[in-house]
Amino acid sequence: MTAPKFAKLGITNVAELLEYYPKDWAERNSISEFHKDWVFTEVTVIARDWLGGKFSTQRAPKANVYVEDKSGRATLVCYKPGDGEKLVPGGRFLLCGRFKGKYDGIQSSYFYTTPATAENSGIDILPIYKLTKGIGLFALGNFIRQAIEKYAPSLKDEIPAEIISRDNLLSKSAAVKAIHFPASFAELESAKKTLIYEELFYFEIMIAKRALERRALAKGHTLPRSANAQISFSPLQKRFIERLPFQLTQGQCEAIEEINADMGIVRSGFYMSRLLQGDVGSGKTLVSFLAALRTVDDGAQAVLMAPTELLARQHAESSARLLEPLGLRIAFLTGNIKAAGRKELLRHLAAGEIDIAVGTHALFSKDVAYKNLKLVVIDEQHRFGVVQRSFIMDKGDNPHLFMMSATPIPRTLAMTVFGDMDVSVIRDLPPGRKPIKTHTKRQSNGNEVYDFVRRRLQEGSQAYFVYPLIESDDENNLKDATSMAEKLATKMFPSFSVALIHSKVGEEEKRQTMERFRSGEIKILVATSVVEVGVDVPNANCMVIEHAERFGLSALHQLRGRVGRGQEQAYCFLIYSDELTEDGKARINVMRNETDGFVIAEEDLRLRGHGQISGTEQSGHFNLGIADTIRDIEMLVKARADAFFILENDPDLVMEDHRIIARVLEEAPAFSAVML
Ligand code: ADP
Ligand code: MG
Repeated sequence: MTAPKFAKLGITNVAELLEYYPKDWAERNSISEFHKDWVFTEVTVIARDWLGGKFSTQRAPKANVYVEDKSGRATLVCYKPGDGEKLVPGGRFLLCGRFKGKYDGIQSSYFYTTPATAENSGIDILPIYKLTKGIGLFALGNFIRQAIEKYAPSLKDEIPAEIISRDNLLSKSAAVKAIHFPASFAELESAKKTLIYEELFYFEIMIAKRALERRALAKGHTLPRSANAQISFSPLQKRFIERLPFQLTQGQCEAIEEINADMGIVRSGFYMSRLLQGDVGSGKTLVSFLAALRTVDDGAQAVLMAPTELLARQHAESSARLLEPLGLRIAFLTGNIKAAGRKELLRHLAAGEIDIAVGTHALFSKDVAYKNLKLVVIDEQHRFGVVQRSFIMDKGDNPHLFMMSATPIPRTLAMTVFGDMDVSVIRDLPPGRKPIKTHTKRQSNGNEVYDFVRRRLQEGSQAYFVYPLIESDDENNLKDATSMAEKLATKMFPSFSVALIHSKVGEEEKRQTMERFRSGEIKILVATSVVEVGVDVPNANCMVIEHAERFGLSALHQLRGRVGRGQEQAYCFLIYSDELTEDGKARINVMRNETDGFVIAEEDLRLRGHGQISGTEQSGHFNLGIADTIRDIEMLVKARADAFFILENDPDLVMEDHRIIARVLEEAPAFSAVML
């Protein structure tokens, strides 16, 4: 095992090695339990067959090795000659793998072995790690075990002692040892609880620190909040609003009033940190433009960052259309803009000759410098962690931060994950929008939906068809985007143009496809949840989601929000599998009955407590390391209360250099230094 191989797993130092937690744990059982996730047992090799030449290069099995434990026999299908070679007939091995019952017996082609020894015969619960080529399961486990023996005893507790005893948590060193090598499942649970709490606690400490700091700086500057008071717009804001063909909604007005008040606070070190929540279509983009205009009036620069190139381009186009006529200089920057053009652009940014830069995370690449960056707008990126927020803030001198989210964030989560930010909410939609009609259909009645959509298309509408997977393997009988695009184009809708878009399609092709969909040249866009975020095509009135039960509620809500952006009545069809789990049924029902994103978000949180959503391109999580802010919401709320209480009452209990921070700010001892 070599350092570069470890680096592939993200392990470059001791801390990262100790924190390379297992993704699963296998309990010692036997071959007879082959239907379980893992078989973990001790076997004797009975015989070995070399198949079609040891060294044949085709991707074909090289050997079958027959093994036996106390409960039965199984075949290990070896694709690498090395595997077969190690498994010498007569030898005894620890074996861990996934097995299947086939017509000719129990077998596995996904397994790991190690010679059985006096030491490893005592292992009852085996850690399962995510691996990479050249690092085997048992080898990695051994390596981590040695690192734990050497380093774990010197780990200090990072959770205050009072909390450890209050909540019956483990010490840090015991927790690290037990997460890798638990003596029992009860001990494993304690280890998880400890490490999850620790992570959440320090996450909340980071948030609480910022919240308390900003609270102190903003003191004495309360919002002027008289109901009918004229908002004092800046000159550019005024000119912009005068040119709009419509009135700002109440919610947009309130948001901009709050923003202007924040930006009006001139006190060194203070910056706005505001999250704007508003349902899809509520007109958040416009609010961010207004914030940018205020910034430019103050003689500074603004950036607007979107999560995908598609969305960034859309923002660039509308800002060019709406802001350039006011004399603003706009630039578009993504990872795909190369060489000469890019250099020129960076020069303008650094010289202050660009007022607003729109783009993806490329806006914050190392080589990008701003003359006077005073506003950072981040659109639709709730996964944007607190830590990343820090990086971005470094590009300017305490720039204002403005985040926008159409995934309504339940109150508990907003308090915890965005607890250092102020929140503005747009509750109303621009006038004249017709509510979207949502219909649910069993898959076996799916043709009725196709017929309905066909009539809409004949009247000139456009439609989205969304699937949970890009491509399906034959094991699960799922319709997938790729094969359905083909079918819809040739069988169901032969007279309409169909195109396919998903995360593996190249950026340029994606752009062209979206362009052709927007212009109306393409009538049916087949997609995965990539169309979920921010895409705005007013003439698309039908959203068909197949295997809707496979999507999370927030994804479904986002997808539905892609339609209903124009004057025509819009429809959303949720087609669900004939066999539906309780969970899936519950989600479909919520979607049928609710349109309010905030209600849906609360339901989402409630339902997620009960189970995982599988098989989709997931979105909307705020995952940290071992903690999951949604699954662990109760602990998160507790951690928040603890963090604020301790910072306000006994700040010395908090470690200054907690590992989450240490990992980002300074390198831990290099991994190669401890290679054994
Ligand atoms: P979202 O909040 O989902 O990001 P957008 O900013 O994309 O919403 O706005 C959706 C559409 O509504 C855009 O086409 C925008 O021009 C339009 N819009 C925004 N504000 C108003 C308003 N006050 N009145 C009418 N239409 C508006
Ligand atoms: Mg948007």
